[in-house]
Amino acid sequence: MEYTYKNPLSITSQFSFCGLPFRLDTYAGCAIGCRYCFARIRGGNIESKKIKTANPESIITRFKNGIKNENSGIISEFIKNRKPVHFGGMSDPFQSIEKTYGSSYKVLEYLKTIDYPVVISTKSDLIGTDKYLELFKNYKSLVIQISISTLNPTNSKILEPNSPNPKKLLDCISLLQQNQINVTLRWQPYILEVSDDINYFVKQIIKTGIKHIGFEHLKLPIEKNSDIEEKFKSITGKSIYKIYKEKGAIINGREYILPIEEKLKNINKLKDALEGTNISLGLADNEFQYLSTYSCCCSGVDIFEGFENWYKPQISYAIRKSYLNNESEIRLDSIKDEWDSSGSIDKYMNSKSRIQKQENPNTMFDYIRTRWNDLNSSFNPSKYYNVEYANKIDSDGNKIFKFVKEKI
Ligand code: SF4
Repeated sequence: MEYTYKNPLSITSQFSFCGLPFRLDTYAGCAIGCRYCFARIRGGNIESKKIKTANPESIITRFKNGIKNENSGIISEFIKNRKPVHFGGMSDPFQSIEKTYGSSYKVLEYLKTIDYPVVISTKSDLIGTDKYLELFKNYKSLVIQISISTLNPTNSKILEPNSPNPKKLLDCISLLQQNQINVTLRWQPYILEVSDDINYFVKQIIKTGIKHIGFEHLKLPIEKNSDIEEKFKSITGKSIYKIYKEKGAIINGREYILPIEEKLKNINKLKDALEGTNISLGLADNEFQYLSTYSCCCSGVDIFEGFENWYKPQISYAIRKSYLNNESEIRLDSIKDEWDSSGSIDKYMNSKSRIQKQENPNTMFDYIRTRWNDLNSSFNPSKYYNVEYANKIDSDGNKIFKFVKEKI
């Protein structure tokens, strides 16, 4: 077999707000072909046979060396510190090519032997087959996140052409639950006028016994080659770009995002629908993340045993801590005790987000501090719901932020 994918382990540039920035992908490219997929739109994911596969043995060796502390570098530091790895950040680990290569199976088979904390993201029903169920069973530090955008099979087929019928995915959730495998649901992306009525959706998922749901609105790519517009039109007869414009969408990086007020309406509807259920809520729209039920961003994996080392030195967690402690100010030094990596991260950043060259390579802390103090950065605390710059600086020269309105 030829293994041509050489970067299966990485740190995502989302680390300033994500509790799971350590990424593993056994395949480059994704044949599920979701029309809204950012990785696909940016040229990373393709629906052809050109999908690249990583060598599972090399991945296993990196983990073995990391654990023995035999390698330097940020990835090894993450492994040594048993930071949970997000498996499937750029492609689905259980897409159809997995049936031929089995790379995801082999890597997980090894990670299970050391009970390494893994969070899988998938929308493949391969996970419900006997072979994979056996693999997942008794893997203590494993959480499987299943993503669904709509329960309507016709719309799903248009938007996610090679994903199974959503009903099958709901059945997988039930099956995993019955086998005591940790599973959560991601309602991502929530697409205006296409995704289901919120009350209806909640009623359906309750039947699966799910305990946690992540929720995020569609981010619309600014690239013209996005075909979400065409597919959205074929479902609704309308232009999604026009709808976003009318709603006052703003540009954030390379995406249009809905304004906070618009998102808040849906979040509040979902909260109401979940009231009285035992389903917790993870808010994946960054501005609201600190208001999730649990602290590890939208994933909520901190409720599961084995995930204590999720990545905490990040901006969302600093805001979350102040929020939970009822503090009026939000300070960078509130997360200073969480720093446990010193390797350079420059090579994982794209040219636009990379910090200008300094004498020494930049660590994750350098990036967080830069984003913290740059009010124009899309990662800056002032971009979060109800947070603003307090016009004050701490003794280290870092900006201090504060909450502004009534908390929701
Ligand atoms: S399954 Fe995930 S990675 Fe694959 S195309 Fe869909 S959204 Fe992208």
